[in-house]
Amino acid sequence: MAIHSFEKLKTSDLGETDVIVCPVCRKATVLRLFTAHDMSAVSFLKKKHDDSVAVCPKCGSVFSVNQNYVTLRQQGTVCTLTESDLSLLFPGNG
Ligand SMILES: [Zn+2]
Repeated sequence: MAIHSFEKLKTSDLGETDVIVCPVCRKATVLRLFTAHDMSAVSFLKKKHDDSVAVCPKCGSVFSVNQNYVTLRQQGTVCTLTESDLSLLFPGNG
């Protein structure tokens, strides 16, 4: 799934993560974080309402993000995203 199509979904853009090595394409990058609000748009991801996802701009892979990370981040707490906070929902072209 290309990122441009993902960005058409009804989401809140939560900005970018720290630099992380993408578990799929193994490139160091910053992931784009979203919270998905529209159940119909995200139903193909089998996600719960308001779950957060991250997209790799290099390969287009979509990950579910550990909600603790997102909550801490929204509270303004400095926290580092690690590979263990990500679980692959949709593999990209890595
Ligand atoms: Zn990637």
